[in-house]
Amino acid sequence: MRASLGGRHVSGAERLVERSRLEETVAELLRRPSAYDRIVVTVEEVEKVQSVRESLPVFSYHLKTVTAGRRFALEKLVASGVPEHIARKGLRLLAEGPAPGGAVMRGAVLLSVESGQRLEEDSARGVRTVRVDWRDRERVREQLKEMGMTERTLDALALATKNVLCGVVAELCWSDDPDYTTGYVASERVGYVRIAPLKEEGDPRGGRIYFIRGDLLPQLVECLERKAVLIESLRV
Ligand code: AMP
Repeated sequence: MRASLGGRHVSGAERLVERSRLEETVAELLRRPSAYDRIVVTVEEVEKVQSVRESLPVFSYHLKTVTAGRRFALEKLVASGVPEHIARKGLRLLAEGPAPGGAVMRGAVLLSVESGQRLEEDSARGVRTVRVDWRDRERVREQLKEMGMTERTLDALALATKNVLCGVVAELCWSDDPDYTTGYVASERVGYVRIAPLKEEGDPRGGRIYFIRGDLLPQLVECLERKAVLIESLRV
């Protein structure tokens, strides 16, 4: 589902469900944006679904300042196998706004861990991770709620888990929502590491950087955009 108001994107969501739950799911998605004047809901049959036993494990850290938060994110990227100068470039791109003119992208930047070059075809759109969901979304939502986390983490954790499965070496993210300053680094080696704050309150810039191996580019994009993945449970 994607919804807009006055030509501006306001909400988007993705679900992977049994056919028997189609109607309730579409109804839920229609209720999701608080305000919109246009909404597009696309329904597609998916034939093959890969199931993944567990999500990445979740860790949360609170730092005193954005500078300290970004320094910590840098350490986690390096621990994930990203060379330091390329990790710094990723942080700089998100801080400046990765789309042309310093704007926000619709998807993610693909950054080579070998050359530090951007590999996405369209630097305004980027690459979007789609077709991923939880087997039992309600249960995981409750589990995360008990740990003090919201729907936002539910979706971001599913996305990050799929990214690792597809071969992304590490991911760096903070939201473009000016009121949401927590971001994360995610990888096979360090898990899903939430870091607060990664940007200043009121800053409208944000995005996602996927650090990847250049030789895996075609398979990786195919996996992110096409492969359907269901995550069985939250790793606790
Ligand atoms: P959000 O976490 O929804 O605030 O999104 C933050 C940024 O991540 C957006 O500005 C996009 O650049 C990027 N993004 C959002 N959704 C996706 C997705 N499904 N796949 C890849 N990148 C995304």
